[in-house]
Amino acid sequence: MKDYAKLLERAKSRLPEEKTTGKRFEIPRVRSRVIGMKTIIHNFKEIADALNREPRHLMKFLSNEMATAGSLEETRANFQGRFRFDTFERLMRIYTDNFVMCPVCRRPDTQIVREKRLSFIVCAACGARSSVKPV
Ligand SMILES: [Zn+2]
Repeated sequence: MKDYAKLLERAKSRLPEEKTTGKRFEIPRVRSRVIGMKTIIHNFKEIADALNREPRHLMKFLSNEMATAGSLEETRANFQGRFRFDTFERLMRIYTDNFVMCPVCRRPDTQIVREKRLSFIVCAACGARSSVKPV
């Protein structure tokens, strides 16, 4: 058993090191707090900025998904009701998958472009243009 652990250790040390300079994409940790009957996300703008999306767009998605009303206040967001931060984190991952990541190359260097009633994700990395459903 000891040998196995050693082997595993050796195998691990041979793996190439994770590149910290790479384009690994992370959503900032949600800092939320429940006050009375509402929930505040303190770093809402920071998150929207990291996703490179309009805070209003993200807000609309979250309020729809949580079936509640939300409002923006400077860098914060307020939601009616009590929600846990992991609810927000789960929804933000869905948002990122649907509205930030390029469906073709899976990179986050994208923009949402609206034309008439349609929205597209336009990717700066691979040039793909993919239709996206409205929020
Ligand atoms: Zn792409």
